[in-house]
Amino acid sequence: STPKRVAIIGSGNFASAMSIFIGKNAQSRPEFEDQVNMWVFEEEVNGQKLTDIINTTHENVKYLPGIKLPENIKAVPDLTEACQGANLMIFCLPHQFIVRTCQTMIGHFNSKDAYALSMIKGFHIKEGPAIQLVSEHITEHLHVPCASMMGANLANEIALQKFCETTIGCENPAMGSLFKRLLETEDFRVNVTRDFGTVEMCGALKNIVAVGAGFVDGINGGNNTKACVIRLGLVEMVKFVRHFFPQANSTTFFESCGVADLITTCYGGRNRQVAEAFARAFPNKKLENLESEMLNGQKLQGPLTAHEVYDCLIRDQVLDQFPLFATVHRICISEQSPQDLIDILKSQPSSY
Ligand code: NAD
Ligand code: 13P
Repeated sequence: STPKRVAIIGSGNFASAMSIFIGKNAQSRPEFEDQVNMWVFEEEVNGQKLTDIINTTHENVKYLPGIKLPENIKAVPDLTEACQGANLMIFCLPHQFIVRTCQTMIGHFNSKDAYALSMIKGFHIKEGPAIQLVSEHITEHLHVPCASMMGANLANEIALQKFCETTIGCENPAMGSLFKRLLETEDFRVNVTRDFGTVEMCGALKNIVAVGAGFVDGINGGNNTKACVIRLGLVEMVKFVRHFFPQANSTTFFESCGVADLITTCYGGRNRQVAEAFARAFPNKKLENLESEMLNGQKLQGPLTAHEVYDCLIRDQVLDQFPLFATVHRICISEQSPQDLIDILKSQPSSY
Protein backbone atom coordinates (compact mmCIF):
# COMPACT_ATOMS: atom_id res chain seq x y z
CA SER A 1 0.00 0.00 0.00
CA THR A 2 1.05 3.63 -0.46
CA PRO A 3 3.28 5.03 2.27
CA LYS A 4 1.59 7.21 4.87
CA ARG A 5 2.35 10.91 4.94
CA VAL A 6 3.15 12.21 8.41
CA ALA A 7 2.77 15.81 9.62
CA ILE A 8 3.82 17.15 13.01
CA ILE A 9 1.56 19.96 14.13
CA GLY A 10 3.71 22.04 16.46
CA SER A 11 7.43 22.68 16.90
CA GLY A 12 8.05 23.58 20.54
CA ASN A 13 10.31 21.83 23.01
CA PHE A 14 8.53 18.45 23.01
CA ALA A 15 7.44 18.52 19.39
CA SER A 16 11.06 19.03 18.35
CA ALA A 17 12.24 16.18 20.58
CA MET A 18 9.59 13.86 19.15
CA SER A 19 10.57 14.85 15.60
CA ILE A 20 13.87 13.04 16.18
CA PHE A 21 12.13 9.65 16.56
CA ILE A 22 9.47 10.36 13.96
CA GLY A 23 12.03 11.52 11.41
CA LYS A 24 14.22 8.48 12.01
CA ASN A 25 11.36 5.98 11.72
CA ALA A 26 9.80 7.70 8.70
CA GLN A 27 13.17 7.44 6.97
CA SER A 28 13.81 3.80 7.79
CA ARG A 29 10.32 2.26 7.53
CA PRO A 30 8.79 1.92 4.06
CA GLU A 31 5.23 2.26 5.38
CA PHE A 32 5.88 6.00 5.91
CA GLU A 33 6.89 8.71 3.42
CA ASP A 34 10.44 9.87 4.03
CA GLN A 35 9.74 13.58 4.33
CA VAL A 36 7.89 14.75 7.43
CA ASN A 37 6.50 18.28 7.52
CA MET A 38 6.60 20.08 10.83
CA TRP A 39 4.34 23.08 11.22
CA VAL A 40 6.29 25.93 12.79
CA PHE A 41 4.42 28.91 14.22
CA GLU A 42 6.71 31.39 12.46
CA GLU A 43 8.80 33.85 14.40
CA GLU A 44 12.09 35.69 13.99
CA VAL A 45 15.13 34.57 15.89
CA ASN A 46 18.21 36.82 15.66
CA GLY A 47 16.76 38.51 12.58
CA GLN A 48 16.10 35.23 10.73
CA LYS A 49 12.96 33.19 10.22
CA LEU A 50 12.88 30.20 12.54
CA THR A 51 11.77 27.93 9.66
CA ASP A 52 14.81 28.97 7.58
CA ILE A 53 17.12 28.29 10.50
CA ILE A 54 15.61 24.84 11.06
CA ASN A 55 15.75 23.93 7.36
CA THR A 56 19.37 25.01 6.94
CA THR A 57 20.97 24.08 10.27
CA HIS A 58 18.51 21.27 11.25
CA GLU A 59 18.32 22.67 14.72
CA ASN A 60 15.40 24.32 16.50
CA VAL A 61 17.67 26.94 18.05
CA LYS A 62 14.88 28.49 20.09
CA TYR A 63 12.97 25.53 21.55
CA LEU A 64 15.51 22.69 21.51
CA PRO A 65 18.95 24.28 21.18
CA GLY A 66 22.03 22.14 20.74
CA ILE A 67 20.23 19.13 19.24
CA LYS A 68 20.30 18.09 15.58
CA LEU A 69 16.98 17.13 14.04
CA PRO A 70 16.85 14.56 11.22
CA GLU A 71 17.26 16.15 7.78
CA ASN A 72 13.94 14.73 6.55
CA ILE A 73 12.08 16.97 9.01
CA LYS A 74 10.97 19.99 7.00
CA ALA A 75 9.86 23.13 8.84
CA VAL A 76 6.80 24.65 7.16
CA PRO A 77 5.35 28.00 8.33
CA ASP A 78 1.96 27.61 6.64
CA LEU A 79 -0.28 25.18 8.53
CA THR A 80 -2.47 24.26 5.55
CA GLU A 81 0.64 23.44 3.52
CA ALA A 82 2.25 21.55 6.40
CA CYS A 83 -0.70 19.15 6.69
CA GLN A 84 -1.44 18.92 2.95
CA GLY A 85 -2.43 15.35 2.09
CA ALA A 86 -1.31 14.04 5.47
CA ASN A 87 -2.57 10.66 6.70
CA LEU A 88 -1.00 10.77 10.15
CA MET A 89 -1.17 14.01 12.11
CA ILE A 90 0.79 14.37 15.32
CA PHE A 91 -0.58 17.21 17.43
CA CYS A 92 1.97 18.68 19.80
CA LEU A 93 1.41 22.27 20.91
CA PRO A 94 0.31 24.04 24.06
CA HIS A 95 -3.38 23.22 24.61
CA GLN A 96 -4.49 26.86 24.50
CA PHE A 97 -3.86 26.90 20.73
CA ILE A 98 -5.78 23.79 19.69
CA VAL A 99 -9.07 25.39 18.60
CA ARG A 100 -7.60 27.79 16.01
CA THR A 101 -5.20 25.13 14.81
CA CYS A 102 -7.97 22.61 14.09
CA GLN A 103 -10.11 25.22 12.34
CA THR A 104 -7.29 26.08 9.96
CA MET A 105 -6.61 22.45 9.05
CA ILE A 106 -10.12 21.56 7.90
CA GLY A 107 -10.08 20.42 4.27
CA HIS A 108 -6.31 20.24 3.92
CA PHE A 109 -5.22 16.81 5.12
CA ASN A 110 -6.21 13.49 3.53
CA SER A 111 -9.68 13.31 5.04
CA LYS A 112 -10.46 9.90 3.48
CA ASP A 113 -7.64 8.14 5.23
CA ALA A 114 -6.30 9.90 8.27
CA TYR A 115 -5.55 9.29 11.91
CA ALA A 116 -4.47 11.79 14.53
CA LEU A 117 -2.38 11.44 17.67
CA SER A 118 -2.43 14.07 20.39
CA MET A 119 0.59 14.63 22.63
CA ILE A 120 -1.09 17.65 24.17
CA LYS A 121 -1.37 17.70 27.97
CA GLY A 122 -4.45 19.70 28.88
CA PHE A 123 -8.21 19.78 28.39
CA HIS A 124 -10.47 21.51 25.99
CA ILE A 125 -13.20 23.33 27.87
CA LYS A 126 -16.58 23.57 26.18
CA GLU A 127 -19.27 26.08 27.04
CA GLY A 128 -20.84 25.12 30.26
CA PRO A 129 -18.05 24.72 31.35
CA ALA A 130 -17.55 21.07 30.51
CA ILE A 131 -14.41 18.99 30.18
CA GLN A 132 -13.57 17.61 26.77
CA LEU A 133 -10.45 15.62 25.95
CA VAL A 134 -8.24 17.38 23.41
CA SER A 135 -8.34 14.18 21.34
CA GLU A 136 -12.16 14.33 21.35
CA HIS A 137 -12.04 17.96 20.24
CA ILE A 138 -9.79 16.98 17.34
CA THR A 139 -12.14 14.14 16.34
CA GLU A 140 -15.21 16.36 16.61
CA HIS A 141 -13.75 19.10 14.41
CA LEU A 142 -11.62 17.17 11.93
CA HIS A 143 -13.70 13.96 11.80
CA VAL A 144 -10.66 11.72 12.24
CA PRO A 145 -10.07 9.15 14.97
CA CYS A 146 -7.57 10.53 17.47
CA ALA A 147 -5.39 8.64 19.94
CA SER A 148 -3.24 10.23 22.64
CA MET A 149 0.30 9.73 23.87
CA MET A 150 1.26 10.67 27.43
CA GLY A 151 4.17 9.59 29.60
CA ALA A 152 7.17 10.49 31.73
CA ASN A 153 8.79 12.27 28.83
CA LEU A 154 10.76 15.42 29.67
CA ALA A 155 11.74 16.70 26.24
CA ASN A 156 15.32 17.69 26.99
CA GLU A 157 16.16 14.22 28.32
CA ILE A 158 14.52 12.55 25.32
CA ALA A 159 16.56 14.73 23.00
CA LEU A 160 19.71 13.39 24.67
CA GLN A 161 18.40 9.88 24.03
CA LYS A 162 18.12 8.94 27.68
CA PHE A 163 15.82 5.93 27.88
CA CYS A 164 12.15 6.42 28.75
CA GLU A 165 8.70 4.93 28.31
CA THR A 166 5.41 6.33 27.15
CA THR A 167 1.76 5.28 26.88
CA ILE A 168 -0.49 5.49 23.86
CA GLY A 169 -4.20 5.42 24.62
CA CYS A 170 -6.15 4.24 21.59
CA GLU A 171 -9.44 2.40 21.21
CA ASN A 172 -8.47 0.87 17.89
CA PRO A 173 -5.55 -1.61 18.28
CA ALA A 174 -4.43 -1.41 14.62
CA MET A 175 -4.22 2.36 14.81
CA GLY A 176 -2.41 2.13 18.15
CA SER A 177 0.24 -0.16 16.72
CA LEU A 178 0.67 2.05 13.65
CA PHE A 179 1.55 4.98 15.93
CA LYS A 180 3.79 2.72 17.97
CA ARG A 181 5.74 1.84 14.80
CA LEU A 182 6.03 5.54 13.98
CA LEU A 183 7.37 6.49 17.42
CA GLU A 184 9.12 3.59 19.12
CA THR A 185 12.91 3.41 19.17
CA GLU A 186 15.48 1.61 21.29
CA ASP A 187 15.46 4.53 23.71
CA PHE A 188 11.72 5.17 23.67
CA ARG A 189 9.50 2.30 24.69
CA VAL A 190 5.84 2.63 23.74
CA ASN A 191 3.05 0.76 25.49
CA VAL A 192 -0.44 0.84 23.96
CA THR A 193 -3.66 0.62 25.98
CA ARG A 194 -7.29 1.00 24.97
CA ASP A 195 -8.07 3.08 28.07
CA PHE A 196 -7.57 6.39 26.21
CA GLY A 197 -9.54 8.59 28.63
CA THR A 198 -7.45 7.68 31.64
CA VAL A 199 -4.23 8.13 29.67
CA GLU A 200 -5.15 11.60 28.51
CA MET A 201 -6.64 12.80 31.79
CA CYS A 202 -3.55 11.70 33.72
CA GLY A 203 -1.36 13.70 31.33
CA ALA A 204 -3.39 16.84 31.90
CA LEU A 205 -3.92 16.52 35.65
CA LYS A 206 -0.37 15.75 36.70
CA ASN A 207 0.59 19.28 35.66
CA ILE A 208 -1.62 20.70 38.44
CA VAL A 209 0.15 18.49 40.96
CA ALA A 210 3.54 19.56 39.57
CA VAL A 211 2.64 23.19 40.24
CA GLY A 212 1.82 22.20 43.83
CA ALA A 213 5.16 20.36 44.10
CA GLY A 214 6.93 23.51 42.88
CA PHE A 215 5.17 25.59 45.54
CA VAL A 216 6.47 23.21 48.21
CA ASP A 217 10.00 23.53 46.83
CA GLY A 218 9.63 27.32 46.86
CA ILE A 219 8.79 27.40 50.55
CA ASN A 220 11.62 24.93 51.31
CA GLY A 221 9.13 22.24 52.25
CA GLY A 222 11.46 19.25 51.89
CA ASN A 223 11.14 15.92 50.14
CA ASN A 224 8.74 14.38 52.62
CA THR A 225 6.31 17.26 52.26
CA LYS A 226 6.59 17.15 48.50
CA ALA A 227 5.82 13.43 48.60
CA CYS A 228 2.59 14.31 50.47
CA VAL A 229 1.63 16.60 47.59
CA ILE A 230 2.41 13.88 45.06
CA ARG A 231 0.43 11.29 47.02
CA LEU A 232 -2.61 13.49 47.56
CA GLY A 233 -2.31 14.65 43.97
CA LEU A 234 -2.50 11.06 42.77
CA VAL A 235 -5.56 10.46 44.97
CA GLU A 236 -7.28 13.47 43.40
CA MET A 237 -6.24 12.39 39.90
CA VAL A 238 -7.83 8.98 40.42
CA LYS A 239 -10.97 10.54 41.88
CA PHE A 240 -11.22 13.04 39.03
CA VAL A 241 -10.77 10.40 36.34
CA ARG A 242 -13.42 8.18 37.94
CA HIS A 243 -15.82 11.10 38.12
CA PHE A 244 -15.42 12.22 34.49
CA PHE A 245 -14.52 8.90 32.89
CA PRO A 246 -16.25 6.14 34.88
CA GLN A 247 -15.03 3.37 32.58
CA ALA A 248 -11.41 4.06 33.68
CA ASN A 249 -9.23 1.05 34.34
CA SER A 250 -7.14 1.39 37.52
CA THR A 251 -4.12 -0.37 36.04
CA THR A 252 -3.63 2.59 33.68
CA PHE A 253 -2.45 4.71 36.64
CA PHE A 254 0.57 2.39 36.86
CA GLU A 255 1.54 3.02 33.25
CA SER A 256 4.06 5.69 32.26
CA CYS A 257 1.22 8.18 31.72
CA GLY A 258 0.18 7.83 35.36
CA VAL A 259 2.49 7.57 38.31
CA ALA A 260 5.71 7.84 36.27
CA ASP A 261 4.82 11.12 34.56
CA LEU A 262 3.63 12.49 37.89
CA ILE A 263 7.01 11.78 39.48
CA THR A 264 9.20 13.10 36.68
CA THR A 265 7.20 16.31 36.31
CA CYS A 266 7.19 16.99 40.05
CA TYR A 267 11.01 16.77 40.03
CA GLY A 268 12.17 17.88 36.61
CA GLY A 269 9.41 19.77 34.82
CA ARG A 270 8.85 23.38 33.82
CA ASN A 271 5.59 23.66 35.80
CA ARG A 272 7.50 22.73 38.94
CA GLN A 273 10.36 25.08 38.12
CA VAL A 274 8.26 28.19 37.51
CA ALA A 275 5.97 27.43 40.47
CA GLU A 276 9.01 27.25 42.73
CA ALA A 277 10.17 30.69 41.57
CA PHE A 278 6.64 32.04 42.05
CA ALA A 279 6.49 30.79 45.64
CA ARG A 280 9.96 32.20 46.40
CA ALA A 281 8.96 35.62 45.10
CA PHE A 282 5.41 35.51 46.52
CA PRO A 283 3.50 37.87 46.38
CA ASN A 284 5.74 40.04 44.21
CA LYS A 285 5.56 38.30 40.83
CA LYS A 286 2.83 36.94 38.63
CA LEU A 287 3.08 33.43 37.22
CA GLU A 288 2.68 34.58 33.62
CA ASN A 289 5.55 37.05 34.00
CA LEU A 290 7.83 34.38 35.42
CA GLU A 291 6.73 32.02 32.63
CA SER A 292 7.91 34.44 29.97
CA GLU A 293 11.06 35.46 31.88
CA MET A 294 12.17 31.89 32.55
CA LEU A 295 10.97 29.81 29.59
CA ASN A 296 11.91 31.78 26.45
CA GLY A 297 8.57 31.18 24.71
CA GLN A 298 7.83 27.71 26.07
CA LYS A 299 4.45 27.43 27.75
CA LEU A 300 3.13 26.13 31.04
CA GLN A 301 0.06 23.92 30.97
CA GLY A 302 -0.44 23.48 34.73
CA PRO A 303 -1.86 26.87 35.85
CA LEU A 304 -4.35 27.01 32.97
CA THR A 305 -5.41 23.39 33.53
CA ALA A 306 -5.86 24.14 37.25
CA HIS A 307 -8.16 27.01 36.34
CA GLU A 308 -10.19 24.94 33.86
CA VAL A 309 -10.52 22.02 36.23
CA TYR A 310 -11.57 24.38 39.05
CA ASP A 311 -14.44 25.77 36.97
CA CYS A 312 -15.66 22.29 36.03
CA LEU A 313 -15.48 21.06 39.64
CA ILE A 314 -17.60 24.03 40.73
CA ARG A 315 -20.10 23.33 38.00
CA ASP A 316 -20.38 19.70 39.11
CA GLN A 317 -20.52 20.79 42.79
CA VAL A 318 -17.63 18.53 43.78
CA LEU A 319 -14.93 21.14 44.48
CA ASP A 320 -14.76 20.20 48.18
CA GLN A 321 -13.57 16.72 47.19
CA PHE A 322 -10.50 18.19 45.48
CA PRO A 323 -8.77 20.42 48.05
CA LEU A 324 -5.33 20.13 46.46
CA PHE A 325 -6.46 20.99 42.92
CA ALA A 326 -8.57 23.86 44.27
CA THR A 327 -5.78 25.32 46.41
CA VAL A 328 -3.21 25.11 43.62
CA HIS A 329 -5.51 27.18 41.43
CA ARG A 330 -6.16 29.75 44.16
CA ILE A 331 -2.43 30.13 44.79
CA CYS A 332 -1.76 30.56 41.06
CA ILE A 333 -4.13 33.53 41.00
CA SER A 334 -2.75 34.85 44.33
CA GLU A 335 -5.99 34.32 46.19
CA GLN A 336 -4.10 32.14 48.65
CA SER A 337 -0.43 31.86 49.56
CA PRO A 338 1.89 28.90 48.85
CA GLN A 339 2.09 28.27 52.59
CA ASP A 340 -1.65 27.47 52.60
CA LEU A 341 -0.91 24.28 50.72
CA ILE A 342 0.59 22.86 53.91
CA ASP A 343 -2.71 23.41 55.73
CA ILE A 344 -4.45 21.36 53.07
CA LEU A 345 -1.98 18.53 53.64
CA LYS A 346 -2.59 18.71 57.38
CA SER A 347 -6.36 18.80 57.18
CA GLN A 348 -7.09 16.30 54.42
CA PRO A 349 -9.38 13.43 55.34
CA SER A 350 -7.44 10.30 56.35
CA SER A 351 -9.14 8.08 53.79
CA TYR A 352 -10.94 8.57 50.50
P1 NAD B 1 6.39 24.60 24.19
O1 NAD B 1 6.05 24.64 25.62
O2 NAD B 1 7.82 24.62 23.82
O3 NAD B 1 5.57 25.80 23.51
C1 NAD B 1 6.08 26.66 22.60
C2 NAD B 1 5.46 26.43 21.25
O4 NAD B 1 4.18 27.09 21.14
C3 NAD B 1 6.34 27.02 20.16
O5 NAD B 1 6.46 26.12 19.09
C4 NAD B 1 5.56 28.25 19.73
O6 NAD B 1 5.80 28.61 18.42
C5 NAD B 1 4.14 27.76 19.89
N1 NAD B 1 3.17 28.84 19.87
C6 NAD B 1 3.23 30.05 20.48
N2 NAD B 1 2.15 30.78 20.17
C7 NAD B 1 1.37 30.01 19.35
C8 NAD B 1 0.12 30.19 18.70
N3 NAD B 1 -0.58 31.32 18.84
N4 NAD B 1 -0.36 29.18 17.94
C9 NAD B 1 0.32 28.03 17.81
N5 NAD B 1 1.51 27.80 18.40
C10 NAD B 1 2.03 28.78 19.16
O7 NAD B 1 5.69 23.33 23.49
P2 NAD B 1 5.98 21.76 23.74
O8 NAD B 1 7.00 21.57 24.82
O9 NAD B 1 6.23 21.13 22.42
O10 NAD B 1 4.60 21.26 24.35
C11 NAD B 1 3.49 20.88 23.57
C12 NAD B 1 2.63 19.93 24.36
O11 NAD B 1 3.42 18.79 24.70
C13 NAD B 1 2.13 20.51 25.70
O12 NAD B 1 0.78 20.15 25.91
C14 NAD B 1 3.02 19.86 26.73
O13 NAD B 1 2.38 19.68 27.99
C15 NAD B 1 3.32 18.53 26.10
N6 NAD B 1 4.56 17.91 26.59
C16 NAD B 1 5.68 18.65 26.77
C17 NAD B 1 6.83 18.03 27.26
C18 NAD B 1 8.12 18.79 27.49
O14 NAD B 1 9.00 18.30 28.20
N7 NAD B 1 8.30 19.96 26.90
C19 NAD B 1 6.83 16.67 27.52
C20 NAD B 1 5.67 15.94 27.29
C21 NAD B 1 4.54 16.58 26.82
P1 13P C 1 6.45 20.30 32.09
O1 13P C 1 5.53 20.92 31.08
O2 13P C 1 6.12 20.64 33.51
O3 13P C 1 7.90 20.55 31.78
O4 13P C 1 6.24 18.72 31.99
C1 13P C 1 6.71 18.04 30.89
C2 13P C 1 6.09 16.71 30.80
O5 13P C 1 4.92 16.59 30.55
C3 13P C 1 6.96 15.53 31.05
O6 13P C 1 6.32 14.31 30.79
